[in-house]
Amino acid sequence: TKEDVKSYLFRNAFVLLTVTAVIVGTILGFTLRPYKMSYREVKYFSFPGELLMRMLQMLVLPLIISSLVTGMAALDSKASGKMGMRAVVYYMTTTIIAVVIGIIIVIIIHPGKGTKENMHREGKIVQVTAADAFLDLIRYVLFKTNYEKRSFKVTVQSNETLVGAVINNVSEAMETLTRITEELVPVPGSVNGVNALGLVVFSMCFGFVIGNMKEQGQALREFFDSLNEAIMRLVAVIMWYAPLGILFLIAGKIVEMEDMGVIGGQLAMYTVTVIVGLLIHAVIVLPLLYFLVTRKNPWVFIGGLLQALVTALGTSSSSATLPITFKCLEENNGVDKRVTRFVLPVGATINMDGTALYEALAAIFIAQVNNFELNFGQIITISITATAASIGAAGIPQAGLVTMVIVLTSVGLPTDDITLIIAVDWFLDRLRTTTNVLGDSLGAGIVEHLSRHELKNRDVEMGNSVIEE
Ligand code: ASP
Repeated sequence: TKEDVKSYLFRNAFVLLTVTAVIVGTILGFTLRPYKMSYREVKYFSFPGELLMRMLQMLVLPLIISSLVTGMAALDSKASGKMGMRAVVYYMTTTIIAVVIGIIIVIIIHPGKGTKENMHREGKIVQVTAADAFLDLIRYVLFKTNYEKRSFKVTVQSNETLVGAVINNVSEAMETLTRITEELVPVPGSVNGVNALGLVVFSMCFGFVIGNMKEQGQALREFFDSLNEAIMRLVAVIMWYAPLGILFLIAGKIVEMEDMGVIGGQLAMYTVTVIVGLLIHAVIVLPLLYFLVTRKNPWVFIGGLLQALVTALGTSSSSATLPITFKCLEENNGVDKRVTRFVLPVGATINMDGTALYEALAAIFIAQVNNFELNFGQIITISITATAASIGAAGIPQAGLVTMVIVLTSVGLPTDDITLIIAVDWFLDRLRTTTNVLGDSLGAGIVEHLSRHELKNRDVEMGNSVIEE
């Protein structure tokens, strides 16, 4: 019908706009790069991108709360229990597969050949105390000193180095590191300080309770339902702005990034290794798993997710992308709202395949450049801690770099070697965030498929019209 044609064009206009945004953003970035904009100019230039970031983050909190509360309230305890189990099994399985891929790939490619000294000599990659790095950034920002030419020295000042902080107190170290990373990598209005996992748990409990309150809970159910609906309408507006925002996020980052030309052999190989690992997971393993479980074409499903994936690429934050992920899954892919509302907020918080893969891979890379032989037990330890670290990482830019301390300390690798890979992390972060969002989304599709009977029964029970597949 005419309506169908219209909605088809509408959807494809989005896809087209989004892809154009990435391409134009990249071209614009590289075109403006030679002009060496000042810090202030870059800030002005990136403003449309920052605006998108802020708009998305503004919606994340109410979205997580309202969707989980309504998601829980819409299911009976048996259905939610089963669905929850399936989601958790999916999260764990895919995360572990991701870790294993990361480990195998880094062992096969062995990007850390040679020595660490080698890496330092390559010039660019330097070890500094966190405080030094921060001061340098400030100097760079304020006085435009040349970030590259300053000669860094390795200074080990017991408590100021990243490693010093860890040995004393892990949680304190985490805080320090979070602070440092945030300062080094300013995140405009990020969800910092918000305990996402705590929020998830609370909202689930709350939803569960009001779901069981019969008439007394009616008002609250309706309230959260309509709150959720209102938020999603705001998301619909932001979706139209998103391509423009993404264009400037990407262009702005390219304009301000450090020169990549100087990055030497080992780091370049490391970057390639991470990309290969993420590709294997995102392009082969996850789609195959989706196909095996649902017998549906994964590429059609992934096609519907395009805008979410590009937003992840642009924002490097899976929680900022969450509103768009919801929209894509519910509207383009027709995934049941009871499933998305229930599993997406949890997935965005704890299920990070890309991050898990990266953490294991990066840890082994650091072992390689240190010529540190890992035995089998240590590799197992790395896989366990990488899984934990990915669960613990928040869905904000470069969170994975911070939780990597857990992985490194677990096998006695020097945590200050994180600085070795900082130079390329902003880029790899975008790729792993995209993988994370893909994993969450395919997971929602898989859980929906596995839960179709409970969903249908619930529909019959509630007197909803049942749509046959
Ligand atoms: N930026 C990633 C995300 O938001 C987390 C990470 O740093 O690995 O999913």
